[in-house]
Order: sequence, then structure tokens, then C-alpha cells
Amino acid sequence: MFEKLNSPVEQLNYAPFSNLFVKRDDLIDPFISGNKWRKLKYILAKATAANKNHLVTFGGAYSNHLVATAAAAARTGLKATAFVRGEAVNNEMLMLCRLFGMELIFTDRESYRSKKELYGNYFADDPEAYFIDEGGASPEAAIGCAEIIQELPARYDHIFCAAGTGTTAAGLLAGIQKHELDTNLHVVSALKGGSFLMDEISSITPASAHLHLHTEYHFGGYAKTTPDLIYFIKNFTGQTGLLIDPVYTAKMFYAITDLRQKGILHQDDKILAIHTGGLLGMFGMKDKF
Ligand SMILES: *Cc1c(COP(=O)(O)O)cnc(C)c1O
Repeated sequence: MFEKLNSPVEQLNYAPFSNLFVKRDDLIDPFISGNKWRKLKYILAKATAANKNHLVTFGGAYSNHLVATAAAAARTGLKATAFVRGEAVNNEMLMLCRLFGMELIFTDRESYRSKKELYGNYFADDPEAYFIDEGGASPEAAIGCAEIIQELPARYDHIFCAAGTGTTAAGLLAGIQKHELDTNLHVVSALKGGSFLMDEISSITPASAHLHLHTEYHFGGYAKTTPDLIYFIKNFTGQTGLLIDPVYTAKMFYAITDLRQKGILHQDDKILAIHTGGLLGMFGMKDKF
């Protein structure tokens, strides 16, 4: 399932840009989408090498990571369980998780904070259980994300990605360092107070001058939007034909557009945006469109 691949890089027709490209990781798979495929690749390799056949992980009710883990487990013949933050609900994402055979354990916000403890309470005696952190955050996940860099068909002045845990960003940075590129990596935080991402990233790979963290494009916080962002998404998708999700990739493309308007990015700069997928998350916000 995790065979070698090269998701396409496409040029985007989006004024005023004449040198804007997108790495279409959203096309990798509809359910094991974008960076979640990259992240799970070596996590699953490690789990199966250790003879673990039961993946146990964590997420919110609209988590792309849960759907991806559920689908990946089903396709590789593994069992999957997820602790879902908050009271029992159903929605499009959790329906998919159930269809893929994932067992869901709804957990109040208080207990959800201590993930290791929760895991221990339920699975300490299950020798086949394998702990996967929320969002798949781990060094293995970063190794998978670093592979994006070696697939690139050209050199870019700037690469952009959206960040939640920062693992994808750390992987990209490690890839840039490994291949000794002088590309700037711009990380756009999808969360409020995103400066913690600097520590997360540098716990995986040394932060270097290549790294630019943007913490001011959160639009109120994780999974929050403003009318301005919704307007941007409609306009962007109408002009380019590219779907973006309000939680992550829309904030990244907004940042690219804003930095261009402010003159920080220039007309001749060659820019690559990583489309990390996650389009299903849009269904959580259907009343906004
Ligand atoms: C999960 C996700 C991210 C965040 O990735 P991290 O490695 O946690 O920073 C970014 N974009 C999309 C579409 C996602 O689903």
C-alpha cells in the first residue's frame, strides 16, 4: 500500500502569481490523504515489524488522521481503535472510520489529555496494541514527510506547508537540509499561539535559517474561520479549480497571497505549496459555504 509514489506538481493559474506550484499530495488517496499517508508510512512499518496488529490512536471528531488510520488499517489487515475527544457524536468522518472497521471510544476532554494513561487503562494487557500519538506525531512520521523533498522535479525559492503538530514541517525541513537546498521553508500555523511549533520542529531536526514560522494566520484558532477566510476560499477555488480545506491548506494559501501582497514574496520567486490533503474536513463546515 505504501509503494513508492510521486504525487504530481502542478502550476497554479492564480493572479498575480506566475511562478506558483502545488505538490498534489491531496491526490494520493481520498481517505489516507496527503500528509497523513506520508506520516503513516513508517509508523505502520514500525508497528508491523514489531508484530503489532492493533493500531490505537487519538483525535477530535473531525480528525483527518483518524479516517486515514482507519482506512490504512483496513487495507493492511490491521485492527484499529481510536479515542475520540468529547461526547459521543456522529458525523461524516466518524461514519467513515466506522465503515473502515475502526472502534471508537468517546472520551471526555479531561481524560483525553493524558493519552498514555488512557492507552494504559485500556490496552496495557494487549501485546498486539500499538500507540500512535494524535495526528501521528512522531519521528517516523517526519521521515515519511521528508520524502516529499526528494520527489520534487525542480528547485524552489520557497516551500510552504500548513502545520498542526509540526511533524510535516519538521520532515520537510530535514529533507531540505539533507539535500542541502537553499530553499526557504514557510510553516503556517493552523492554531493560535503557534510559536510552540518552533520547539516541536527543532525536537526532530535542528532549526536553521531556512525555517520561517508564520503564527498570525490562524483566523481565531484551530478549525476557526472568519468571513474573510471563507471569502478567500470561494474566490481561490473558483479561480483555480483547486479545493482547499478551511482548517489547514486555506490558511496556507491565504498566507502565500498575503505575503505576496506585502512584497515579502516577489514576482519572480519560485514558490511551491504542499497540498497536504484533508479535504473531508470541509464537511464539518458545510453551513459556512
Ligand atoms: C493533519 C494535517 C496537517 C498538519 O500536519 P502536522 O504534521 O500535524 O503539522 C496539515 N494539513 C492537513 C490537510 C492535515 O490534515
